[in-house]
Amino acid sequence: MTNLIFPMPIPSLEISDSVLRFPVRRIFCVGRNYAEHARELGNDERAPPFFFTKPASAIVPSGTTLPYPPRTQEVHHEAELVVAIGKGGHNINTNKAIDHIFGFAAGNDLTRRDLQTAAKLQRHPWDMSKGFDNSAIIGLILQKQKMPQETSIRCTVDGKLRQTGQISQMTWPIADIIAALSSYVTLAPGDLIMTGTPAGVGAVGPGQTCSVDIEGLSSAVFTYVS
Ligand code: MN
Repeated sequence: MTNLIFPMPIPSLEISDSVLRFPVRRIFCVGRNYAEHARELGNDERAPPFFFTKPASAIVPSGTTLPYPPRTQEVHHEAELVVAIGKGGHNINTNKAIDHIFGFAAGNDLTRRDLQTAAKLQRHPWDMSKGFDNSAIIGLILQKQKMPQETSIRCTVDGKLRQTGQISQMTWPIADIIAALSSYVTLAPGDLIMTGTPAGVGAVGPGQTCSVDIEGLSSAVFTYVS
């Protein structure tokens, strides 16, 4: 592209043990994929998960210090397993889904919960509560196609445990998520899927450090300026 009127950076993520980077095309997120988290926010745990998005520009690499976001008094952490898509497709079959996975990372789906609560009441969209600047903290991508079912996922704030769960507690497993999402949109290499959060979401405030730790992956950590 040499005829653009100004340069546009391509968001990208570091890949473990590689000098190459993973270009990020879109970020899809799954809502309510752990029964206990659905219950803690007062939702039906049996309802099928649904999807929302964040802009690719919302990505922040692990280890960053960030300003506390505007227009909110209640930013919540959501520890999530992130799937990086390496091969695109439409209407992907569940039993072919892992062929489309490039790798996995730890992620934090930061949420302006006060804005989201207001949006839900007014039946307004979630874009401003979910897709704000610096709202997707993502760790290094590890190249592999499967995560063990017994993998643990945790979130700490200033070293105190807030969220803990197991990948096996997902309502919809990863293959089902890929199949369902690809029935709505044609997936493409560079897409990320944030696969939902276990129970224990809560506030992360100015001066605090929040870490998402998934067994076998590198952490997704950030700090808010005090
Ligand atoms: Mn989430």
